[in-house]
Parts: sequence; C-alpha cells; structure tokens
Amino acid sequence: MSSFLFITDLDHTFVGDDSALEILQQQLSEHRRQHGTKIVYATGRSPTLYRQLQAEKALLEPNALISSVGTEIYFTENDEIPDLEWSEWLSSGWNREVIVTLAADFPALISQPDSEQRPFKVSYVISPTDYETVAPQLQARLQAQNLTTRLIYSGSQDLDILPVNGNKGLAMQFLAKRWQIEPHRTVACGDSGNDIDLFQVGAERGILVGNAKPELLAWYQTNHSPHLYLAKAYYAAGILEGLIHFGFITKE
Ligand SMILES: [Mg+2]
Repeated sequence: MSSFLFITDLDHTFVGDDSALEILQQQLSEHRRQHGTKIVYATGRSPTLYRQLQAEKALLEPNALISSVGTEIYFTENDEIPDLEWSEWLSSGWNREVIVTLAADFPALISQPDSEQRPFKVSYVISPTDYETVAPQLQARLQAQNLTTRLIYSGSQDLDILPVNGNKGLAMQFLAKRWQIEPHRTVACGDSGNDIDLFQVGAERGILVGNAKPELLAWYQTNHSPHLYLAKAYYAAGILEGLIHFGFITKE
C-alpha cells in the first residue's frame, strides 16, 4: 500500500450514512498515519457552513479544504486565509463589484445570505422559469464587460456566478501538483452535478456513489471510462467500495 490523494464532496457523498462514515474515516485516518495519504474535502459550502457540518458529524481534519464550489483552498496549517496562489489564478477576468452591480438590474435574482457571498462567488436564488429568461441576458452583460465567468444553476434554485477557472476539478489538480501526486494516485468522489468537474479534468480516478443524482448519472451514461466507477452502495459505503475497486485500500 502507498499514499494517495483522496478528494471527496461532503453532502450526500462522504456524509449521509453515519455508521459507514465511521468505518471509512477509520480506514482513511489509519492510511494517512501509515502512508501519508492526503485527505481533502471539496464542497459547495462556505467555510462557515463547512465547520458546522464538521462539528456535527465529527469529520476528520482534512489536509486541505476546497470550499465554495472550488473558489477557495485552505490548508490545515493556515485555515483562516485562502491560498493566495489559487486566489490570484482566479482573479483574471473577475470583478465582484461589477458583477453585483450588473445582477442588481435583474429583480428576479434574490441574494443568498452574506455567509454564502464569497470573494470569488456571487450567489442568488432564482426560480427555474425566471432563470431561463435571465441567464442569457446576464451572460451577455457579463461578456460585454470582458468578465470570464460561468453560471452554475443547481437544485432548481441556487445560482452561483463563479470565475471561469474556479471549479473543484482544477482545484484538485492544483493540490495534486502542490503535493506532487500523480493522477493515477488521485481519487475523487461525488454525487451531483457540481462534482462533474472532478470527474472530467483528467486521468484522476473517480467514484460516483450509488445514490448519485440524475444529472450526474445522465452525464456518466455518455462518459464511461475505466477511470470512473459507479458504486452500488450509497454514501461512505459507496466510497469504500470504490477505493477497494481501484486498489487504493484492501478489503479488511
Ligand atoms: Mg453533494
């Protein structure tokens, strides 16, 4: 056995089945102690909402946290300040103030709470019908200002405006490069549409938990690869199944 880079989404992937989570956390913690495996969480949550979940579910302290849909990276050694190199990489083609001003012209966009507004993430709530009308207009206005953003609409209500380079997959590769870990020793786990970026950036291994949402399953139907594994089991049990499938850990 040797070290690997383990990256997982939290809600409905790592978290969802408490007893399976306990077993998985024990295995990962032991692997990290023996082999130096790195544990990373990649979540749509802000650091504030992440810490709530970490306390509630007694999650292992990760080596790094990718928060706010890939727009912030925190290392355990310095968990108050997001990594500067990553922030700099995101800042080209991004101007938060201009985005907020443009969006204010669309009354259908309702601001999310302050804790979810981040330096590289502007977040709203909008209904699906309004979104269809607003999205193309908003996109055109952003482009006219030379802003290279992308709009992520999820759960039929949440709209995130993000820098084009701010995604979970590129953040994963940034960490792998920092720690000099090869793609075949990197594995990402997820359950929903905003995890697709983790599965399509390169040759990293991917585990789709058995409870994956329809949008991720639909994507998987047309993107089969030996690097991807759709687990039968749900949540942490699905992750464990995938880690054994790829040989990252052995069956007890
Ligand atoms: Mg999830």
